[in-house]
Amino acid sequence: SHPIGLPADADATIAAHEVHPGAAVDQFPGSRGVRTGGPLAFTPRLWATGAGGCLRALPGGRFGLLTGLFNRRYFDEHASRLYAEAVRYGQPLTLVIADLDRFKQINDQLSHAVGDEVLRVVARILQENIRESDLVARYGGEEFVIAFSHATGSQSYQLAERLRVLIEAHPWHEIHPDLRVTTSMGLCADLTQGGFEQMLSVADANLYHAKSSGRNRVCSGSEVVAA
Ligand code: GH3
Ligand code: MG
Ligand code: MG
Repeated sequence: SHPIGLPADADATIAAHEVHPGAAVDQFPGSRGVRTGGPLAFTPRLWATGAGGCLRALPGGRFGLLTGLFNRRYFDEHASRLYAEAVRYGQPLTLVIADLDRFKQINDQLSHAVGDEVLRVVARILQENIRESDLVARYGGEEFVIAFSHATGSQSYQLAERLRVLIEAHPWHEIHPDLRVTTSMGLCADLTQGGFEQMLSVADANLYHAKSSGRNRVCSGSEVVAA
């Protein structure tokens, strides 16, 4: 069982995973100003008993504490709504999965602290360069998802490509002289897939293709050409 008694759902896992000593939690919108004193100082005040007696995250629980981005559960809830609306109103929707390249090497060769800082900076680059109508979340360890609403597949491809270039061009040497960071991205703009989960699967397959064909690139698959 979990040492601090949190449920083992994805939200708790990601939130607890992101807690680290000295995190400036209170700078993030919607957070509760909790300061962490150690790796397991995740405070039970963030949690309450919901319907059915199960533990549920209060609103602060939708944010990851390392990056301040929305977490996976929040993204999934909103992506299903975005998908339904896009289908109903005949509007475009593109989902992008971005995965940092050879991130394990950054941790292993430079340090976990450098890795954490990279995650924070990448999160900020993504957040600052999407529109308010778009949604970005930290989906897993070094994996981010973005939903572009109101942009066609080819427009979204350009947007993703711009984000890729911004990440590559960031002055990473200011963090560590040997640090380089690139990202691979997979994209899906095909609303006929049946749901956002299926769109994410296509995006993930395209991400795999981006990785296997050399990394530091955006792959869209063929469905985007028609969009
Ligand atoms: P690839 O180019 O194929 O994506 O290689 P990769 O090394 O990025 O992929 P892999 O999945 O092997 O490694 C991901 C690493 O991300 C492993 C894990 O330790 C690290 N990681 C996950 N979450 C965090 C975090 O919160 N902080 C830090 N510093 N590292 C993390
Ligand atoms: Mg990964
Ligand atoms: Mg990776």
